[in-house]
Amino acid sequence: MNNFLHTFWQMRLEKAREALEGNNFEVHLARDLEQARTVVLTKILPATKAKLVSWGGSMTLQDSGILDALKAMKDLSWIDPSEKKASPEEKTERRRQALLADLFFTGTNALTEGGQLINLDMYGNRVGALVFGPRHVVVLAGRNKLCVDVEEAMLRVKGYASPANALRLKMKTPCVKTGFCEDCKSPERICNVWTITEKSFPKGRIKIVLINQELGI
Ligand code: SF4
Repeated sequence: MNNFLHTFWQMRLEKAREALEGNNFEVHLARDLEQARTVVLTKILPATKAKLVSWGGSMTLQDSGILDALKAMKDLSWIDPSEKKASPEEKTERRRQALLADLFFTGTNALTEGGQLINLDMYGNRVGALVFGPRHVVVLAGRNKLCVDVEEAMLRVKGYASPANALRLKMKTPCVKTGFCEDCKSPERICNVWTITEKSFPKGRIKIVLINQELGI
């Protein structure tokens, strides 16, 4: 069962890789999260020569062990925008500073077979870094993020990822009670900024690690 599913997704991910590379993204394919971590730490990170790194919210990144590995590296400085002990003001300031990192890690809400990244953000720091600022951006994406097109990707985000994330983050939003997006006006609304990243500019600035595993929301 698992083998044929792995093969099925491998074929889909290979096609997505072609499309993403055609849109100037640098793409790496990994069979699982462990291999993704190895690719990031032994190939991508050294090639960027990054000295200052940061990251935006991504369950896949948190589960990967990459953050712990980065924090243990003596020759690397890092900005942690989500450190539990930091005050809300301090977190905001760190999100601002993170936009000038050499290397920024994040996930994506969805990606399309045509090779686009689709995201919907609360603060905008994650999509802000995707758009401009950090010299390099690494996006970790499990196979479950792959959608046919922009329409399906946006449905995935508003119909599933956002309500599920609001529940995970214990937000006071109507979707937490119903499981459906109610297009709320809540102060804790997590759906504020859409981005569609059509291409990486400059070429190769955004590096995507496609992982043949169900990861994140
Ligand atoms: S717009 Fe509001 S109700 Fe809809 S998913 Fe986002 S936070 Fe939930």
